[in-house]
Amino acid sequence: MYFLWLCCHNSIPTCKVLGSRGFTLQPWCPPCNVQSESVLHALRDYRIAKDFWLKLGIANSLLNSFSSPLVEWLYLNSVTSFPSKHLGIPCEIRFTMGDWQLWLQHNAFIYREANRCADRLAKHGTSLSLCCLF
Ligand SMILES: [Zn+2]
Repeated sequence: MYFLWLCCHNSIPTCKVLGSRGFTLQPWCPPCNVQSESVLHALRDYRIAKDFWLKLGIANSLLNSFSSPLVEWLYLNSVTSFPSKHLGIPCEIRFTMGDWQLWLQHNAFIYREANRCADRLAKHGTSLSLCCLF
């Protein structure tokens, strides 16, 4: 939850956030080099993030939230209590663990040039969610 709080307060070190704090760097997202690397881009709008969320299976009633502003998107998905379609893991746990895994993956791509596919990332996020529950 602390990570989501940091996201809501634009406090994770994306290129856009660092640029707004005086760091001299390109605002573009290093992996795709097309869009500005905002928090929302890194966790939702980045092509691997989009694929990740689709494969993870978002409740139909939350699909519209994926076009909402950052804080609304985080809030709606982290407080929801819809039954999960996947291994009985509550949607809000999968969402918060998914955000964290996407952030780690995004950084791994940038700093270690690791490039995992969305399937593998989704499986890893699910495993970590299970660890939190049991
Ligand atoms: Zn990008």
